[in-house]
Amino acid sequence: MAKGLPKQEEDFPAWYQAVVRDAGMAENGLARGTMVIKPHGYAIWEFVQRALDDRFKATGHENLYFPMFIPQHLLEKEAEHVEGFAPELAVVTIGGGEVLEEPLVIRPTSETVIWNTYANWIQSYRDLPLLYNQWCNVVRWEKRSRLFLRTTEFLWQEGHTAHATSDEAWEETLRMLEVYREVAEDVLAIPVLKGRKSASERFPGAVETLPIEGLMRDRKALQCGTSHFLGQNFATAYDVTFLNEAGEQDHPWATSWGFSTRMIGATIMAHGDDKGLRLPPAVAPVQVVIIPIYRNDDERGAVLVAADKAKAALAGNGIRVRIDDRDQHRPGFKFSEWELKGVPIRLEIGPRDVEADQVIAVDRLTGEKKTLTSGQVTSQMVGILDGLQKGLFADALAFRTANTHEAGDFDTLRSGLIDEGGFWTGSWCGDEACEQKVSGETSATIRVLPLEPEDPGAPCAVCGKAGTERATWAKAY
Ligand SMILES: [Zn+2]
Repeated sequence: MAKGLPKQEEDFPAWYQAVVRDAGMAENGLARGTMVIKPHGYAIWEFVQRALDDRFKATGHENLYFPMFIPQHLLEKEAEHVEGFAPELAVVTIGGGEVLEEPLVIRPTSETVIWNTYANWIQSYRDLPLLYNQWCNVVRWEKRSRLFLRTTEFLWQEGHTAHATSDEAWEETLRMLEVYREVAEDVLAIPVLKGRKSASERFPGAVETLPIEGLMRDRKALQCGTSHFLGQNFATAYDVTFLNEAGEQDHPWATSWGFSTRMIGATIMAHGDDKGLRLPPAVAPVQVVIIPIYRNDDERGAVLVAADKAKAALAGNGIRVRIDDRDQHRPGFKFSEWELKGVPIRLEIGPRDVEADQVIAVDRLTGEKKTLTSGQVTSQMVGILDGLQKGLFADALAFRTANTHEAGDFDTLRSGLIDEGGFWTGSWCGDEACEQKVSGETSATIRVLPLEPEDPGAPCAVCGKAGTERATWAKAY
């Protein structure tokens, strides 16, 4: 239990570390760079899984599962892909006490093994599309880890689809990006920007990488999910061909898309305050906590009867509710502990409330106290939680709006990114030299480019030559 968290404004990384630890979200694993996800963190992941999986199914996808071991030679077939992932690979060279004939790579992502397998599954246009997803762990060796944001092993889903035409694959890439936006915004209450990555930020082997990007409360951006248009690159590398409707041999078009446990970190950093987590009701493992308040056994008995009644009524409405009747802790201690854990609503019930047939409700968003009759607790709580879900989103959106700026020239862009943080948008000529100049001087990167081509209406904010599109820059995790 916290003796008081570091202040966000003073030391955000220390605040983050303390919240993750004290709210019971996760801790370091025994192997360096790994993570133990604790129940309060894992429960959020389960809600995210359900929200995503329902939407995958609704858009026609099925789940399957591929092995975590990939024969090393498979990875080497797609040149950009192997080059991009080589520094992060974990490789098994010994199995069953013997040196393996061929080393096995532990999947950093599964395009290679999946496309090599799709070669046997796809012969004709009638076999397409393949709309598959898998829930799994992946391993990418990290020298400097941070819980949820960057760990050697993490959990995610990876979708891998194959299509007969480029248009279909591009539509799928956009469709899944929209699914990610919906889950980030409607479930996790994190407003995100949709867009394209620049060539230097693309997934290795992709033709286009489409991200959603959120802004954390330290004014740094976080990539929240990506949907990749892979063109025919993997199909060509793994020799996947099919007979198209015109009777000609062709390579199928591919997409892949991923969303990971990193989003638990995003939820902490997009909503948390100096008291701890503020969880969106949609993913809060406990949505309402009831704290009974009493001084002696007589009072305790009456208060707990009222608390049980309130709990049953709320649970009957599908609300996740818990009574904290631990005798060893005083109410004040419980208040701060549940605030730290981000529970959206706290109900306080004391002897006088029992007499008046009422409860005191305190929400985690505003901290305001409201008196509700026991009838109102039952009839209004679903609406109250819904309001908090929207309120949290509105709060995060207002924060992003206040921290999104325009830069017309390099000095403004440079000093803005260094001194103020947040998103900085400006015209860009498309030249990688300009991109590198900004990154070199500020450590910020282009987070998104527009999905649709548009006239930036101004010269490049870096070099002053004609602009081709508007880039949104930020320092990022
Ligand atoms: Zn330029």
